[in-house]
Amino acid sequence: MILPILREIRPTQWFGDTVFASTTTIYSYSGDLHAGFDLAASAGSNVFAGIYGTVVDVVSPASSFRPNYVIIRPTRSNPCECVNRVVLYGHLGTPSVKVGDKVRPATRIGATDAAAGGGPHLHLEIRDYEDHYTAFTDNEWFYNPAYYLSSYWMNRLQAAAKAQSAHGVSSGLAFVGETDEDGNRVLGDPYTQPYRIPR
Ligand SMILES: [Zn+2]
Repeated sequence: MILPILREIRPTQWFGDTVFASTTTIYSYSGDLHAGFDLAASAGSNVFAGIYGTVVDVVSPASSFRPNYVIIRPTRSNPCECVNRVVLYGHLGTPSVKVGDKVRPATRIGATDAAAGGGPHLHLEIRDYEDHYTAFTDNEWFYNPAYYLSSYWMNRLQAAAKAQSAHGVSSGLAFVGETDEDGNRVLGDPYTQPYRIPR
């Protein structure tokens, strides 16, 4: 999977047991763990599918993932193990796809939106296919996007995270890493987090 946001590469929260997830209660749906990656970008930045697939849900939720989210089921032609999973793109402005649309990696599916909690960002989440979102079932899992994004894009994400902490980014757009001994906020290593977490 390629990165769905290309113009700005600014990760603000990895998957799993993040500082933010453990100090707030907004992630109760995933057992108080952050179930995806947060990628900040100015409001109106294009969000792309990043994969080949079919749109299976376009929803304007009343609560989390506002203002809209899109869910895409990858096709078997993907060079990733997403086939029995779906990819959720949270906090989109007006989506530019509808249910049933076939998408390619470069298909624009929407844009980041200022209405997202914590500032405009994409919440990128990978979960089991069954029932996508509304009706969770037993044995449903969330997966660490670090293992689904291509290594090229993961390297760029990690470099961007390091650059942010090197510049002493300590406030602003929902940058929710740990604080190191110099008082800089760092995101740490996304691969130290588990491959998957239960819902
Ligand atoms: Zn998130």
